[in-house]
Amino acid sequence: MTVATSARLLPTYARLGVTFVEGDGAWLVDANGKRYLDLVAGIAVVALGHRHPAPMAAAHAQLDRLWHVSNLYSTEPMEALAGRLSDRFGGARAFFCNSGTEAVEAALKWARKATGRKELVALEGSFHGRTMGALSVTGQPAKRAPFEPLVPHVRFVTPETLADAVTDETAAILLEPVQGEGGVRPLEADTLTLARALADDHGALLVFDEVQTGVGRCGAFFAWERFGVRPDAVTLAKGLANGLPIGVLLVSDDAPTGLEPGDHASTFGGNPVSCAAACAVVDAVDAGLLAHVREISNRFARLGAVRGLGLLLALELGRPAGPVVEAALERGLLVGTAGETALRLTPPLTITAAETDAAIDLLREVIA
Ligand code: PLP
Repeated sequence: MTVATSARLLPTYARLGVTFVEGDGAWLVDANGKRYLDLVAGIAVVALGHRHPAPMAAAHAQLDRLWHVSNLYSTEPMEALAGRLSDRFGGARAFFCNSGTEAVEAALKWARKATGRKELVALEGSFHGRTMGALSVTGQPAKRAPFEPLVPHVRFVTPETLADAVTDETAAILLEPVQGEGGVRPLEADTLTLARALADDHGALLVFDEVQTGVGRCGAFFAWERFGVRPDAVTLAKGLANGLPIGVLLVSDDAPTGLEPGDHASTFGGNPVSCAAACAVVDAVDAGLLAHVREISNRFARLGAVRGLGLLLALELGRPAGPVVEAALERGLLVGTAGETALRLTPPLTITAAETDAAIDLLREVIA
């Protein structure tokens, strides 16, 4: 499989040489008509599967009514989505934007404004996005180095050094319940519990970046529900609108509001079409689908060296993963990578047991 290059795109991605033209559930079709079972789902985005009827109908209906008015006014889909997310969180207010990295930017600004403090504590190995603020709290030096100087007053810690780093100067502790881009590594529940206690002791805010782990991906609407630790704020994006661009910062009703008119903004944030689709997604991520996610997760565990939570999984190969991704693509199976030596498996949450078994058989063949 050749790596595709395009004369008209800046080379920020090493794309594989395939062009997709259609999707249906857990399946994709390329420009030559070849079908692929999709265990990538647009990097954990197409939560309900391609062309799921509920968000598609909601988006179509909204496209026919109203596309955009800006945040100078209110719209029904944005209010409806904020209400649904508040209910899921147990009382929260939303700031809507268009991507995960923007949700993290909003979280950082909120935490600094709400506390009047500068210090941010983040974990080594974390990933929070590519814009300058989110990159500044991303615990992967190689991703930060070419773009320094970045936002100052960030401390990177391990679970073992977390307690030493949090002080009365700390604005926020930011972490992913399962580190996604960092290799699909669930944190210990004790680490989340410790972070909660430290934030409370020092008057800092606890922010969970659930851009990848949220919206049912880990077998609960928010991954934190599986750890039993509620943050002061949470970021969501990826799966929220099943593929339409959206991001959100949710701030608990128990936490300071922080932001006032003029502090932060997004022209497209709360876009009616994205919010209408997202309402349909939130409604679809019910107890039945969450139980299904946990069941399918157990099925994937039969592969052996699988880590992760729900359907945010990695299969450790112990050898370079890139060639396996390409071999799987040849066989009609899409998988991603989690670091150098593991495959990342983030299928649509709606993948069936039969599709899962077919994927497992194909995976066994390509890694044999
Ligand atoms: N935060 C987390 C935990 C992520 O996994 C990602 C993307 O992978 C981001 C933030 C950035 O999201 P986006 O690519 O939508 O800006």
